[in-house]
Amino acid sequence: MTHTIGFIGLGNMGGPMAANLVKAGHRVVGYDLVPEALRQAEEAGVRAAESAAEAVREADVVISMLPAGRHVLAAYADLLPAARPGTLFVDCSTIDVADARAAHDLAVSAGHHSVDAPVSGGVVGATAASLTFMVGAAEPDFEAVRPVLEAMGRKVVHCGPAGAGQAAKICNNMILGISMIAVSEAFVLGESLGLSHQALYDVASTASGQCWALTSNCPVPGPVPTSPANRDYAAGFAAALMAKDLGLAVGAAEAAGLPTELGRRAARLYADFAAADGTGLDFSAIITTLRKDGK
Ligand code: NAD
Repeated sequence: MTHTIGFIGLGNMGGPMAANLVKAGHRVVGYDLVPEALRQAEEAGVRAAESAAEAVREADVVISMLPAGRHVLAAYADLLPAARPGTLFVDCSTIDVADARAAHDLAVSAGHHSVDAPVSGGVVGATAASLTFMVGAAEPDFEAVRPVLEAMGRKVVHCGPAGAGQAAKICNNMILGISMIAVSEAFVLGESLGLSHQALYDVASTASGQCWALTSNCPVPGPVPTSPANRDYAAGFAAALMAKDLGLAVGAAEAAGLPTELGRRAARLYADFAAADGTGLDFSAIITTLRKDGK
């Protein structure tokens, strides 16, 4: 079944995601505040709208891929009254769980359906249509959105009701952020004990230290040739985005009255790194801040 899809936010992620919806045969009408983003989307077959409201007027599905919760809530103020009643709103941005629930409530009170569907897989996954979607939705809305998401991703997981997708995303990224620091500290300690990177990798990758941060995104060059460490930490999952996601996790933990001590410490380390010189580097470059000489 093909849809008319309004797509709001055609940046690094939204641009290629919208292009994959076009490739799957959907009619996509897009809008972005930045004219260059809109122009690139047009080249991929997206019809450019003059405003957010125009992009959603004829849509039966509306997808947003925006920087943060405040952008989603501000955009929804324009989009919800402009869309036809019963439109399915799908927010794929990574935002605060409380903002996701607020956006959902606004959409439902305006007579629409609403799901949160944040992603993992980065720009590479967005381009290759191999993203993982974590979906918070009522069962019928999940069944309605699944085929649309499958045009942009390889895996679509129903995590629970509204907000559950965002909850899964920040919990997963808290594991990732902390485990990258654990792996990095182990390599730094190994270096000081005269242990080669390869030897530690050969042991830990097949022993109880095994994890994605080690075997897919290894923070030292050599053992995993495809990891960003082999290209000076370029073109991976930016440290600034990890800092953002851990900030969301810590905010949710505070609201729940939980200490999550390691999550909190990791959030501070990535935020400091991103604010210094690590913003655009892959988050595994955090290892450079853990060595005594900072290299
Ligand atoms: P981006 O900054 O490249 O794109 C966001 C786009 O939204 C920009 O083009 C901006 O102009 C546009 N925008 C902002 N407000 C708007 C509005 N009111 N109306 C229309 N357009 C508006 O960011 P991105 O990397 O594409 O990330 C988008 C979301 O995806 C974020 O929430 C991010 O955390 C999440 N995410 C990113 C990655 C990644 O690797 N980049 C991975 C997973 C999740």
